[in-house]
Amino acid sequence: MLNFDYHALPWNILFGVDALQRLPQQLDQLGLRRALVLTTPQQAQQGQAIAELLGNRAAGLFSEAVMHVPATTVAQAQQVVDELQADCSVSLGGGSTTGLGKALALKNQLPNIAIPTTYAGSEMTNIWGITENERKVTGRDDNVVPSLTLYDPRLTLGLPARVAGPSGINAMAQAVVNVTATNPNPMVSMMALEAVRMLNRSLPLVVEQPQNLEARSEALYGAMLAGASLGTGVTSLHHRLCHTFGGSFNTPHAETHTILLPYSVAFNARAVPGGTRQLAQALESEDAAAALFQLARRVGAPTSLKAIGFRQQDLDRAAAIATEKPLDNAEPVTRDKIRHLLEHAYEGIEPRAPYAQFNH
Ligand code: NAD
Repeated sequence: MLNFDYHALPWNILFGVDALQRLPQQLDQLGLRRALVLTTPQQAQQGQAIAELLGNRAAGLFSEAVMHVPATTVAQAQQVVDELQADCSVSLGGGSTTGLGKALALKNQLPNIAIPTTYAGSEMTNIWGITENERKVTGRDDNVVPSLTLYDPRLTLGLPARVAGPSGINAMAQAVVNVTATNPNPMVSMMALEAVRMLNRSLPLVVEQPQNLEARSEALYGAMLAGASLGTGVTSLHHRLCHTFGGSFNTPHAETHTILLPYSVAFNARAVPGGTRQLAQALESEDAAAALFQLARRVGAPTSLKAIGFRQQDLDRAAAIATEKPLDNAEPVTRDKIRHLLEHAYEGIEPRAPYAQFNH
């Protein structure tokens, strides 16, 4: 019998090839006049082009966004906002830049317009994250949802395969945890399963044919739906593990998700057989965890913690940090079980059903 709560988020979305050209007019409609464009140092040039497109609606460019939103970067950006008297931010880039826009919205109610150029999906969630003293603090607040999100698949054509693959699987993770949740929300599952299908189909094409705009468009749409399912759904063990690695060991975000996802799915499979079966179907496979592992291989992403330079001697500390607070997860979590999971992820041993190694 159906029994669920659904909390919608205030999404305002423009999606389509060349949607970027509508930005100036959209700013006018929102009554915003002095935009601070945010980018990483790598995308400063693209940010400059956005500022030119905005003309006198642009207050300036802050191109110091970095991974995991350090509190010091937020403070620097806020100083620039104050100096330039900006009345909104336009974050062009991946989750790192979107995250900076969200942090400014959280701390100072600065409206944010997101223009995503990876598949991180952060723009569709109300989740913010700020890193201080080697710990990433996260929370949910609807005020960080961008006032407008503008998706233009053309902006993703330059996303190199080595970034696009893990970024897409990072998106997939947001959908996967909601299909395999303890009590999946049917409305969230609908978006999540479509996200899995879209990303599973398009990511290999994006990597093999980088200029295929149709594949880029499907991947971006899949990422949008995945972000939407995380935004209105739940997180569980998988996100706890990834935040532990990112916040305490500074591992690269999307790669960490890509490496850990098959193991998180295998770990929970016994507790959520129905969701795991639905996930496998969406992946056109008999075995959901193995399919995710193979997809990562196919898109050329790393499939072990050792491949990203994680040190084996830090596995104990990672397991301890990941389990220091209680966690609502389908399969009960203990430090020993997580240590065991991480050992497999460290070595990159392909998980295969019935996943007996994770079901003690
Ligand atoms: P990223 O934003 O760090 O981008 C990776 C690199 O790719 C950067 O150098 C960026 O400038 C570059 N890049 C981005 N788009 C490009 C393009 N089209 N062409 C060329 N280069 C491009 O990485 P990410 O994986 O998108 O985001 C990771 C961050 O997002 C993490 O901090 C993570 O915690 C956060 N995140 C948050 C949420 C949320 O809901 N709050 C969800 C997902 C991710």
